[in-house]
Amino acid sequence: MKRITGIPVSKGLVIGRVYLLEEDRSFRVGPQAINAQDAPAQLERFELARMAAIADLDALHEESTGEMGTEAAKIFLFHIGALNDPTILKPIRSMIGDDHVTPEYATSFTLKKLADRFAKHPDSTFQSKVDDLRDLASRLIRKLSGKSAASLSQVGENTIIVARDLTPTQTAGFHRHHIIGFVTDLGGRTSHTAIVAGALSLPAVVGTSNITAQCHDGQDIIVDGNKGTIILDPDEETITQYKALIQSAEEARISLHELANLPAITTDGVEIELLGNIEFADEITRLLDDGGQGVGLFRTEFLYLTGNTLPTEEDHFNAYKQCIDMLDGKPLTIRTIDLGADKYTQQQEETPERNPFLGLRSIRYSLQNQKMFRTQLRAILRASALGPVKVMFPLITNISEFRSARYFLNEEMEELAEDGIEYNPNIEVGMMVEVPAAALMASAFAREVDFFSIGTNDLVQYTLAVDRTNERVASLYTPIHPAVLRLVRDVARAGRKRDIPVSCCGQSAADPAFAALLIGLGVRTLSVTASSLPLLKRAIRGLDSKRCERIAKRAIGFDSEAESSSYVFNRLRKIIPEVFDGRSVF
Ligand code: PEP
Ligand code: MG
Repeated sequence: MKRITGIPVSKGLVIGRVYLLEEDRSFRVGPQAINAQDAPAQLERFELARMAAIADLDALHEESTGEMGTEAAKIFLFHIGALNDPTILKPIRSMIGDDHVTPEYATSFTLKKLADRFAKHPDSTFQSKVDDLRDLASRLIRKLSGKSAASLSQVGENTIIVARDLTPTQTAGFHRHHIIGFVTDLGGRTSHTAIVAGALSLPAVVGTSNITAQCHDGQDIIVDGNKGTIILDPDEETITQYKALIQSAEEARISLHELANLPAITTDGVEIELLGNIEFADEITRLLDDGGQGVGLFRTEFLYLTGNTLPTEEDHFNAYKQCIDMLDGKPLTIRTIDLGADKYTQQQEETPERNPFLGLRSIRYSLQNQKMFRTQLRAILRASALGPVKVMFPLITNISEFRSARYFLNEEMEELAEDGIEYNPNIEVGMMVEVPAAALMASAFAREVDFFSIGTNDLVQYTLAVDRTNERVASLYTPIHPAVLRLVRDVARAGRKRDIPVSCCGQSAADPAFAALLIGLGVRTLSVTASSLPLLKRAIRGLDSKRCERIAKRAIGFDSEAESSSYVFNRLRKIIPEVFDGRSVF
């Protein structure tokens, strides 16, 4: 039995078996010569591998059309087409037959050359196929070597993925299979992979440094997403102990769930609006079930990350309409795309930036890709005719960015009006405050925006200079830092002066201790992942807003994060010991 610790990013306890998702490097094969007389036999070997790969792909296409829908399953048709394409097959066959190299090398060389050409192509449709070509090369090479392809769709029940790192897109794909949790070597608390795990309610631990080197496929594993502990090869006693913990967590969840229909109101009568953060429309069912009063943050970039082509206006509109229908009159705040940094597009991945979190991300990316941005704005406006929709722009740093975004929105309104298409001309337009510059200038922004939503995931990262995805500096990532609290206070003050609503939609708002400080600083709307709502509501119902004010005021005055944290926890523990048991998500 071996214990490993990492950073807990998505709550829950699970017992399962390891599936080691290795980084796929099999598409790279070095040059290997064959004897001239072996060429016909090697050509035949290539043919057999190609036919076997096509048969697998046919089966995958059929299976995934049912699971993922026709559009998403189309990707397999591209692979099948490529395996029948003479422009790919001719050079491979000629390298084997005339240059006398192995089929593995001929495949790797030809597809790599094509992938490199696609990567440099100005049309993003070609760029988006680079990974597919690599996948295809791996598939063929595995067939040639007689190895079977690793496929997540074939994993058994109770599988726990262990990987060096995962992209948000890979994680988003997990819920279709038998995957009950995951662990990675890399990653930080608020990386988007972690956020997707929370959205899918998959217990997850990241930042373990090297768990991939310490485990093997099929090994028994326990993942404790509350504490960040992983146990490999647990003994019987430990398994029994964890089964009991899982059982009591389920009972506690049911009792917290009973709060779902009660208001989130402090003991002195201050009502707190509790909203949900979502990445997929179908999360709304759980959100409403857990007592959410609407959606405070719809992260729309997942429309871009899960498909192989850019979403159309209809794709956007349908996603928003689905949310509006499910919310049945409750508010929906749509954030325009926040691509870049760890939510990259294929195009961005192929041209890496040196400092992506300081690079062309979020609103900056949207303003430079106007066509794409306008498509989304138009769909949001169309959806605004169907229900209470608000729109907000992420990562606003300069007022000119907000004005430009708003200008595009106004232009799209004019176009819709000309086309006789309905929209809400009074749609509320807000901004996220996630950069210290925006927080410091909040009073200037408050003259132009309809609402603020504080994004502490980024605000903490940029204020404390801590990469939110980097496990090596994860211990420095803390929202209860007086510098962060001062910025939050300034934004709340600026909002109050102009009577503009201020919410917080960062992960830390889900931490009862930080939520108490937010309430103390004057924030009245919190938006968090659905699974965090019951505990948050229980904490709010035991707090007095005036007391929170005093605690926040004192916490802001300390010289260090250590002093403010220990003060805050000591005070809160005395007020509601069962919620503030001294441990915090942060
Ligand atoms: C944030 O930065 O706090 C936020 C909510 O946005 P995201 O996590 O999507 O960057
Ligand atoms: Mg952000």
